[in-house]
Order: sequence, then structure tokens, then C-alpha cells
Amino acid sequence: MGFSRYSIFSVIAEALRGHSGWGPAWRDAIPAPKYDVVSVGGGGHGLAAAYYLARHHAVGRIAVVEKGWIGGGNVGRNTTIVRSNYMLPGNAPFYEWSMKLWEGLEQDINYNAMVSQRGVLNLCHTDAQRDAYARRGNSMRLHGIDSELLDLAAVKKMVPYLDYKNARFPIQGGLLQKRGGTVRHDAVAWGYARAADRLGVDIIQNCEVTGIRQQAGRVLGVETTRGFIGAGKVGLACAGHSSQVAAMAGLRLPIESHALQAFVTEGLQPLIDNVITFGAGHFYISQSDKGGLVFGGDIDGYNSYAQRGNLPTIEDVCEGGMALMPMLGRQRLLRHWGGIMDMSMDGSPIIDKTPVQGLYLNAGWCYGGFKATPASGWCFAHLLARDEPHEVAAAYRLDRFAAGYVIDEKGVGAQPNLH
Ligand SMILES: Cc1cc2nc3c(=O)[nH]c(=O)nc-3n(C[C@H](O)[C@H](O)[C@H](O)COP(=O)(O)OP(=O)(O)OC[C@H]3O[C@@H](n4cnc5c(N)ncnc54)[C@H](O)[C@@H]3O)c2cc1C
Repeated sequence: MGFSRYSIFSVIAEALRGHSGWGPAWRDAIPAPKYDVVSVGGGGHGLAAAYYLARHHAVGRIAVVEKGWIGGGNVGRNTTIVRSNYMLPGNAPFYEWSMKLWEGLEQDINYNAMVSQRGVLNLCHTDAQRDAYARRGNSMRLHGIDSELLDLAAVKKMVPYLDYKNARFPIQGGLLQKRGGTVRHDAVAWGYARAADRLGVDIIQNCEVTGIRQQAGRVLGVETTRGFIGAGKVGLACAGHSSQVAAMAGLRLPIESHALQAFVTEGLQPLIDNVITFGAGHFYISQSDKGGLVFGGDIDGYNSYAQRGNLPTIEDVCEGGMALMPMLGRQRLLRHWGGIMDMSMDGSPIIDKTPVQGLYLNAGWCYGGFKATPASGWCFAHLLARDEPHEVAAAYRLDRFAAGYVIDEKGVGAQPNLH
């Protein structure tokens, strides 16, 4: 059983012999006593960082240490939306770089991640919101990002089944990014894991980091449930558990953890062929290739590490959906689940060194870290290898909260439940 390259020929050959020859996608690595770089957290960001480190930087031995299983965190729990419709200078180049990496990802890692650029349509419901979208669209175009402002007739032509007569939230138009869309979330984790493994990265599952060993302000390695693992450098990419893991090194992060829920209905005939977001509340929806309507909304309003949410938020999300598409009320919900969001105070992430030498931080992804996965991994690898930020992530500094240089894309202030 080998690690074969996936291609049309290997698929046909395996089909002819009853799929008996596929090897495991990655090795089940046993922890070595020491690595040059240890990435803590086997989510999308930790795996992507390890892959780009191995691929583009000569840093020696690399391990990804994951407390559960690959794909068990937010990377396998999100609503799969990718886009780069950002406005602020600190954000737009970063998310556009991510979009460009998505566009070439499957060829790069030799994995079908079902990248589908089906378009993301943000609806507007007031004159003021239309003006704000016009401004955002112009800013995007100035950054070289595609965007189109649609009037009501154009939106009606594109998605005729919405409730246009809703007296409370009449639809006035929308901002469309055609290159945005969806990517199959857990395939991204599996694809990066396999590609990193092929480059020699050790992927160590069921291995929880329980401490960060330091000496004289310098990191020496990580204590884990499978023993001490020495490391020249340690990169934290623990998403919803960032605060807990950083606290092991004595750091207090400007991050709160909240549950975010996602929902899938029973399978339907093809209906929604893009991503639609409601502008008068927090609601976003697309349709999976299996036919389920996949949707989500706001975070639960209190801090939690539970990967499940509560009924008031479910009600709120479904109300948003009903205001947009009353036919949703006829659907049966098949599944819903929660993930733990690392909500930063300004809604933007952190990719930076920490005050502990050799310890690096990748966190604060809020609702939107899935679309950032490739660029986050790319920029974190750059930082880990060269000790300096990548130019598109230079604004994501840890000290910006103390210095006042916040990157508040929504303009709602330093309150995580509003981002
Ligand atoms: C319901 C929901 C919907 C979302 N929708 C979208 C969307 O449509 N588009 C979008 O862009 N983003 C979305 N997101 C956000 C996105 O999923 C996250 O921001 C992103 O996945 C976080 O990065 P990650 O993949 O590395 O996280 P994770 O997959 O959570 O990886 C972190 C890993 O760290 C591990 N870990 C934690 N503590 C330790 C420890 N002590 N030792 C070892 N390992 C540890 C965890 O087990 C976990 O596997 C959504 C999230 C949720 C929950």
C-alpha cells in the first residue's frame, strides 16, 4: 500500500481492481523527541502552515500536533464559504491572496477539495446599505478584487425565488463577487495533511498539548499527552482554544471563545447555485453538492468551549432565513452542530511573534477563518521560517490592540459579539 499520486489513471486503475490498492492518505506518525518546528493544532491553518513550510522553506523537521483527529475542529465544521470581499487595506490584500491560492490549490496539493467559484451575493435592504456596498465594491476593485454592484432587477434575474415583497426587509440590490464560492471544508484538511505528509511532515493525532516548556524566555518544546516534544520553534494555530493554549505560556490574548452553529437541511433538487447572504440580519446560505441547504448566522452570545449551541440562536438564524426565503419553513433540518470561534476584539486575526522567543501565534479568526486557510498557512510559514511577517499579513500584529491600530472591517467597535 503506497502513497499514490491521485489522477484519472489511478482512479480508473483502482476502479478496475475494486479499490483495493489505495494506501492511507498520511502516515500515523509517532512523535520524535525533537523537531525544528512544531505546529500546535491540526486544523486547516496548522496543516497549511506545515505544508507551506515544508514546501517553500528549508527549516528541517516539522510536526503537526493535534489533540483530536484531523478535520475534527472548525475546519470540518464551517459553512464552507470563501470570498475576498474585504475593504480595509490591512485585510483586502491578505484575503485576495487567499483567493488566489484557492484557485490553484487542488493542482498544488493534488487533492480534490471541490473548489467551486459559484459567486457570493451580499444583499442590501436600505439606501444606506447600498451606498456602503458601492463603497466596498469600489475599494475592492482598487485592490484588484472583482466585484459587481447589482440593482434589484439584476438580483431578481439571478435569484428569482427570494421574498422581494418582504415589507420589513425589502431587497434593493446586492454586491456580487463571482470568484467567491465554496470549498469542501474537511477535504481541505485532508488534502493539506496528505500533501504535508508527502513532504516529510509528521502528523501526530490524539496528542494534546498540555504545557509549553520555556527557559529564560525561550521556548524549548511542548508537554503533551504523549510525552515531551522538543522544538526549536512552536507555532500555535488552535483556533477556539487559542486562549487556553497561549495561557500555558503565560500569555493573555485579546480573544474570547464563542460557539457558532451551522445547519443542513435534507437533500433537495438543485435550487441555490451560489452563496447568498441576508443584509438585514446575520444569515448566509448555499446548497451542497449532496443537495442539503447549508446555512448559518450569528455566534451564541456568551463565552463557551462547548461544540454545541443553543435554541435562541437557532431561532434567530431560522428567522433570518425565513425573511429571505419563506419556503425554508417547509424544509426539515437534517443536522446542526457547533464549533468554537476565536473571536478577536476587532474581528481581524493575529499572525505574529509572541513575547516568548520561539513562540508564534496564529489566532483570532472569528467567523471567517476557513476562507483564510491557504493565506494564513502561507504567511504563518513565512513568519516561522524568516522571523518577519509576510507583507500581506503585516497588519495582523498582536500589539495592535494596545497600540490602537485595530482593523475593524465592520466598524462596530471592540466587541466580539458584534463582529
Ligand atoms: C459553524 C461554523 C461556520 C463557519 N463558517 C465559515 C465560513 O463559511 N467561511 C469561513 O471562512 N469561515 C467559517 N468559519 C470559521 C472557520 O471554520 C475557522 O475560522 C477556521 O476553521 C479556524 O482555523 P482552523 O481550521 O485551523 O481551526 P480548527 O480546525 O478548529 O483547528 C484548531 C485545532 O487545534 C486543536 N487543538 C486545540 N487545542 C489543542 C491542544 N491543546 N493540543 C493540540 N491541539 C489542540 C483542535 O483540536 C483543532 O483541531 C465557520 C466556523 C464554524 C464553527
